[in-house]
Amino acid sequence: MKKLLILSLLIVVSCNQKKETDFTTLFEKSEGTETPTYKEVTSYYKDLSDSYSEISMLEFGKTDSGNPLHLIVFNTDGKTNKNEIKTSKKNRILINNGIHPGESDGIDASMLLLRNIVQSDSLKKVYKNSLICVIPVYNIGGALNRNSHTRANQNGPKEYGFRGNARNFDLNRDFIKQDTKNAQSFSEIFHAVNPDVFIDNHVSNGADYQYAITHLFTQHNKFGGDLGTYLENEIRPYLENSLNKKGIAITPYVNVWGTTPDKGWSQFMDSPRYSTGYTTLFNTFGMMVETHMLKPYKIRVEQTYELLFSMLDFTEENSTKIKDLRAKAVEKIVENKTYPIQFAVNRDNPTKFNFKGYEGSYIDSKVTNGKRLFYDKTKPFEKEVNYFNNFITTKEVTIPKAYLIPQGWCKVIDRLQNNNIEFTRLKNDTIITVEVQHIKSFKTVSNPFEGHYLHYNTEIESSLEEIQFLEGDYLIPTNQNGIRYLLETLEAEAVDSFFNWNFFDTILQRKEGFSPYVFEDKAEDFLSKNPLIKAEFEAKIKTDTTFAKSSVMQLNWIYMQTPHYEPAHMRLPVFKIQK
Ligand SMILES: [Zn+2]
Repeated sequence: MKKLLILSLLIVVSCNQKKETDFTTLFEKSEGTETPTYKEVTSYYKDLSDSYSEISMLEFGKTDSGNPLHLIVFNTDGKTNKNEIKTSKKNRILINNGIHPGESDGIDASMLLLRNIVQSDSLKKVYKNSLICVIPVYNIGGALNRNSHTRANQNGPKEYGFRGNARNFDLNRDFIKQDTKNAQSFSEIFHAVNPDVFIDNHVSNGADYQYAITHLFTQHNKFGGDLGTYLENEIRPYLENSLNKKGIAITPYVNVWGTTPDKGWSQFMDSPRYSTGYTTLFNTFGMMVETHMLKPYKIRVEQTYELLFSMLDFTEENSTKIKDLRAKAVEKIVENKTYPIQFAVNRDNPTKFNFKGYEGSYIDSKVTNGKRLFYDKTKPFEKEVNYFNNFITTKEVTIPKAYLIPQGWCKVIDRLQNNNIEFTRLKNDTIITVEVQHIKSFKTVSNPFEGHYLHYNTEIESSLEEIQFLEGDYLIPTNQNGIRYLLETLEAEAVDSFFNWNFFDTILQRKEGFSPYVFEDKAEDFLSKNPLIKAEFEAKIKTDTTFAKSSVMQLNWIYMQTPHYEPAHMRLPVFKIQK
């Protein structure tokens, strides 16, 4: 009896101790001027999960910093493991913070959000059908590289992390190429959560205006179909109205550089290298939040916090519709038979809205001998502007029934596996008639970009050929959840294709060649046996003056028509089965 009494006293004491943990954040203690270090954020969530059964703290893989990537999960059903996340029928929201750790607004807003929900019986009831998943700090290496200077134009907090990760990658360009462990671990989280709604928190650079917060939804025409329409016609207006009711003015992200917003601007195109471009590949409603760098930190965090609640509310209120749209998305894409891979702004069809800006003008610089842009805060205005947020398709591809990739291309296969792509392996060596893509032309950036010499303006030529495949090569059907991921990475002409990100650069170089003095005799023999090619050769000499002047070019041209020329040169090792 005495023992029991002591035991229960201990429990009471320990329970009391837990309840007494102070969850006031550094942001609050500093009156909105400071953000915690990575270690402080981690220990805050550890304490929160120790104190509240509705909060779970999970580890998903590593980051380049050596530290694990954490996921915090709010679930009123209690402690939640990875498998329960995957099978839950609840609304799924994923919030990403600190991809650019200097832009720490979301880190603080999320700490307040989860604490306030878990400490309020009424809020717990409101979000009882939601699985709220938060990545506390995505770029841990950047967060550990703390300083007070690298956000030159930003109004607080006092200290913050750096944009580059532990290996100086910008993680918001790494979602397709996955050079970092961060991106690989992110895809593990993303596919476990399979979010209906994804929010990535940032702070903007660029023009000055009255708003402290802007929304950057994934581009709705690219998102496409019923999903894109719903995003543009339902979610965007809901969010804008919801924040307006809370007294917060919000504008579409002001994608203006080197000029002033009153002239209008086009929507930012978030190709799949970016977070929301990536989440779109799996039919998730994605948005970036961009608060305005010149507004005080306190206001930016408070408005991010309110935006998160508005998006949670929308998801709660419309979960059936959201889940229904997502469930039908793949079927609709397959039905379309073609898939758009390139877009351009439609300059003829802007959306008009009243923008709250400041008068801007160019005045003499006091520093350089040039002019400088000056926003006059004593001259606020509200003017109608053109917002070019409608895009048209400029290139589309026929959706193949399947892709075939030889097993040697393991870096590509690794990324498909990281993204839950389903495939089978060929059981025998087989010759299959497939559509082959030959690289016709491409351009390459002249300076390194995110660890790559990125290609662009890529064009291919297709042909039907019989190709020898080997046992174990990968057969990847397109009719699966990851159809968009496959199309956007394997179609060489898509902006963020694996080809453009240098995964296939070895095909751009010939591995064998010829010595002209030896090949001369073979060339003569080849032309005499192939009169059609000979006629083509002679015609080319007559019409192409450069060609006519170069014996090297002429011999090389003949070589490329012979069986000596290696088939792998310029041939993408991604083959298509169309029917
Ligand atoms: Zn950012």
